[in-house]
This record gives sequence, structure tokens and C-alpha cells, in this order.
Amino acid sequence: MKSTSKQSEQTTNQRNKAFIGLTGWIFIALILGIIIGIVFNYTVPSGSDFDNIVVNGIFYVLGQGFIRLMQMLVAPLVFCSIVCGAAAIGNGKTLGRVGGLTIVLYIITTAVAVCMALVIAQFIQPGVGLDLSSIHSVDTTSTQSTSVADTILNIIPTNAFNALSSGSMLQIIFFALILGVILAQLGDRVSTVRRFFSQFNEVMMSMVTLVLRVAPIGVFCLISRTFAHLGLDAIVPMLKFVGGTYLGLAFQLCVVYMVLLRVFARLNPFRFLKKMLPVMGFAFSTSSSNATIPLNINTLEKKVGVNPKIASFTIPLGATINMDGTAIMQGVAVVFVAQAFGIPLGPMEYMTVILTATLASIGTAGVPGVGTIMLAMVFDAVGLPAEGISMIMGVDRIVDMGRTAINVTGDAVVTAIVARANKALNTDVFNDIVTDQNVEAQEEQRAALEQGDLDALSDNETTVSDKEED
Ligand code: ASP
Repeated sequence: MKSTSKQSEQTTNQRNKAFIGLTGWIFIALILGIIIGIVFNYTVPSGSDFDNIVVNGIFYVLGQGFIRLMQMLVAPLVFCSIVCGAAAIGNGKTLGRVGGLTIVLYIITTAVAVCMALVIAQFIQPGVGLDLSSIHSVDTTSTQSTSVADTILNIIPTNAFNALSSGSMLQIIFFALILGVILAQLGDRVSTVRRFFSQFNEVMMSMVTLVLRVAPIGVFCLISRTFAHLGLDAIVPMLKFVGGTYLGLAFQLCVVYMVLLRVFARLNPFRFLKKMLPVMGFAFSTSSSNATIPLNINTLEKKVGVNPKIASFTIPLGATINMDGTAIMQGVAVVFVAQAFGIPLGPMEYMTVILTATLASIGTAGVPGVGTIMLAMVFDAVGLPAEGISMIMGVDRIVDMGRTAINVTGDAVVTAIVARANKALNTDVFNDIVTDQNVEAQEEQRAALEQGDLDALSDNETTVSDKEED
């Protein structure tokens, strides 16, 4: 028994070492990618052989290949982790408490984000001085707007297998939540099915580890190609829009999240954000909340001390329904386009923007660029021309990187609050106090989750300390 725990301790330490190495490489790839991309932008003529072979050939294939690898994992990973998560905390009371609080916090943080973005945009006046009404109408047929009613109805899949095969995240989550809760309620009668899902979850996590090993190469190629194409000059005309959005994102990060972490999670916000930096860097370079799910869960579990039962439930859910950064972009975009087209917005329009941007955030998939597509729904609700979106699309990638970083941080902040409220936060791990007991406790929690041990969360109080962070 002792040797088993020693072995598991060694494996954990090895895993932690490998993990630190990986995040370091991701950062190196990010910085190198920016530098090389800018150099290429100034030295390599667009359309030249070098451009075609290296930037649009090798970088494109490796970058997109990496994104596809991550996307390949997402539907089965999210499905399994939500089934296992809901089954693990699905004993009525606990799911209600964890799920209810999580969803309410996700919605409130998004609504706060849009309101703040609207206020910031009023000060920055991003669209003043730009006359978009003179622009020829642009084909925006690819940006289909969805009505609010349809957005809500679309959560329910008409065919669960279709939802899985097409990767409709909200529908997958909806079905997985019901399945998980029912598995929990049926208890031992369905132990084989439960074991199947937890073992499948374990297989998926191993696949994630494998794919993450090539992350630095993927990140480098994605970033260099983005900067090689856009360069620095490309963003100048849209600087106010981009700057306004980034100001909103910075406010959300440095004020809203800091206060939430201090007051509700009772954690040192600076330490928390420091631990989140690799996750933010990863989200920044992939522009995909979905792709960041594995790293986010891993960080919250191993570095912040959140019980995996909580993180594996709240993070996939957050990656799908909680998009604070996207909502901020949409708030600034509304003011930008309204000013550029000279369309005045009244209090009613602003209320509509807050409501629809919050709903749009719920319906936005955690993959690159979808937030801008969902903008059509917000524009439509307040009578802004969809043509405005084409302007924003020009700089979408630059904005998408920042907003995705905030999206995933918002998920993590809410997860920390929910974990604290449910006595599922190990502050020793958060404070880097490494004891054998901590390592063992984490391993036990992870093993319990993987084996579908459905004990109520309150059982964790014996293994997880819940002291106030000093
Ligand atoms: N790229 C964002 C995300 O994955 C979604 C978006 O705003 O386009 O979170």
C-alpha cells in the first residue's frame, strides 16, 4: 500500500516537472512567434515563394493541424467530463448548489462585462471620425443572425448523436448534464455505464497529454502566421476599437476579477493570476476556450488547489457559456459601429445590448472567431447594419486572442469562488505548501473522479483544507 502511494507520488512529481517544462516552452513559442511574425511581415513580400511555402504552407499546416488536434478532443472530452462531473456531484442537493451558483455567477460576470464595456466605449468614442456609411455594402451572408428565442431553443438537441457529431457544445452539455444526473440517481444499478464513462474520460485525458506535447510547435506557427499577415501597420486604423476592447478586458481582469477573487474566493488575486498566466497565454495563442479546457482544469487542480470534481464540471461549462471577454468586445463593437454609422443609441438599446450580448455569450462556441459571428445577433437586436461586422472582422484575430484569455480566466475565477463556497479548495496547494498529504489527497480526488466515486463533496473536508488565504 505504501509503495503504491510512493509510486503515485513519484508519478505526480514527474508529471508536475513535465508540466512546468511544457508551459515554459509555450511561452517561448509565443514570444518567438510574435518576433518572427513581425520580421516576416516587414521582410517577406506577400505572395512570394517563401511566403507561400513557409508562412502559408508550413506554418499554416502545423498551426491548423494543432488546432484540429485539440478540436478533435473537445466533443468527447467535454461530453465525458460533464457526464462524470454531473454524476459525481449529481446527488440532488450538491448539483443544485454547485451548478446553480456556477451558472448564476457566469451570467452575472458576463452582464457586468458588457455594462463596463459600454461605459468604456462611451469615453473612448471608438467610431467617431470614421464614416462607415460611405462604405459599399459588404457580403455578410456568412454571418447568420440567430433570434434570442432560437438561441434558447437551440440548447435542446433534437438528436443527441447529431449534437455530438457536429460538436454543438450547448447541446452536448445539455444532454451530458441530464445523463450525468440520471446516472447519479440510478446509483449502483448502472455502475457499468458509469465505469465506462469514467474510464473513457481517463483515456481522453491521456490523449490530451499526448496532444499537449506538441503545443509549443502549434502555438509558434499560429502566432508567427498571424503577425506575418497583419504586421503592425494593419491594426493602426482599428487601433481605437482594439484599444477600447483591450482596455475593457484589462479592467475586467485587474478590477472585476481581482475584487471577486479577494472578496468571494478569499484568495490572493495576484498569486491567482500569476498561476493563471500560462493558461491565459495558451488561450491567447489558440483563441479557443475549448482548446484551453484541459490546461485550465489541470492548472486549477494542480496549482490553485480546486477539487477536480468541481473544475471538471465548471470549466467545460464555462468554456461554452461564459464569455466575458467576448461580451466586452461586443459592447465596444456596438458603440464603435453605431458611431461610425451615425446611429444614436438610447437607454432601451443599451439594455437590449446587455441582454443579447449575455445570451450571445452563452451561445458562442469556444473556438476562434465565433464571437464576431454572434455579433450579428446583437447588431440585429438594436438595428445596427451587419456591414459593420466586416470592419471588425479585419482585426478579429488580434481581439480574439485577448478576449479568449479573459474568457478562460473568467471561468477560472468563478470556479475558484464555487470551490470556496463548497469547501473544495485546498489553500495549501494554492500557497505552494507541498506536503505528501496534499499530493496524496489530490491523487485520491482524481482517482475518485476517474473511477466514478460519487461521494458527496462534503466528504472532501477530511482531505482538503479550507483555510482563509492570508
Ligand atoms: N475565441 C473565443 C473563445 O474561444 C470565442 C470568440 O469570442 O470568438 O473563447
